[in-house]
Amino acid sequence: MDLGNPKNTIEVIQKYNFAFQKKFGQNFLIDSNILDNIAACAGVTKEDCVLEIGPGAGSMTKYLCDAAHHVLSIELDERLIPLLTAFLAERDNFTLVQGDVMTLNLADVTKNLRKPLSVVANIPYYITTPLLTMLLASPIPIQRMALMVQKEVAQRIAAKPGTPDYSAFTVFCQYYAEPELLFDVPASCFIPQPKVTSSVIRLDCRVSPPVEVKSEAMFMRVVKAAFAQRRKTLLNALSAGFGEMSKETVEKCLTDSGFDPKVRGEVLSIGEFAKIADAFFTVLD
Ligand code: SAH
Repeated sequence: MDLGNPKNTIEVIQKYNFAFQKKFGQNFLIDSNILDNIAACAGVTKEDCVLEIGPGAGSMTKYLCDAAHHVLSIELDERLIPLLTAFLAERDNFTLVQGDVMTLNLADVTKNLRKPLSVVANIPYYITTPLLTMLLASPIPIQRMALMVQKEVAQRIAAKPGTPDYSAFTVFCQYYAEPELLFDVPASCFIPQPKVTSSVIRLDCRVSPPVEVKSEAMFMRVVKAAFAQRRKTLLNALSAGFGEMSKETVEKCLTDSGFDPKVRGEVLSIGEFAKIADAFFTVLD
């Protein structure tokens, strides 16, 4: 049965007497074209193992099982387990884990899967930022993610320097992966319909960072400080974030590295942030 057909999804939901829970971010995809498209854009082949987060009723899981060597899905809502188990009973390349993706030991859960993994998911939107932060910095080898997220979040992840969407989260994501905005998905493709437009984004995880830094922690700290007060000049924002450095030292670091202290942090590229972070690291070391 294809859950990309709204009639079928409604039938399954009624059969199992399932009531959607807002707190779990439950918006099920019911458009077979979109489901097919996400699976195709994820570039999953029979060589790949897929980690799916929040399978819901399993509409996308079915497509992923067709494409992948093995699919492991993590679902928090216990009420969906019997439904998923019945729906995917005939699949011999599917494992279901009940639990919270944010607290499970992912290294342990995925220990039998061939690496690097692909992550494909229509994720619950309420955990987008912590989930992406966790997955991108995770020691588990992930080659690619294809994710449905809120459109605004997708735009923030893929933003270019100097644009309003460019943020500390953008730099964090692009330090670990190369994002590509794929396509928008209107609210009408889900039940129940979310209040926002969604977008599918692909993140190709980098094998090594795009720039070498002396300290990743210092790099992240500089980026956070630069964006914490984004209307301020770089000099003022970084001075506010680095109380242990005098304003004169911050200014010297910036000018010595070739930056105008009066520019705003929001125009800097990852490479430029890296240069400043290295200068700060040398001074503070
Ligand atoms: N992928 C499905 C469902 C998307 S809705 C589809 O496209 O139709 C999001 C799903 O994530 C729901 O099934 C919800 O129960 C599940 N979920 C919510 N929080 C979760 C968490 N912390 N860990 C794992 N799954 C979660």
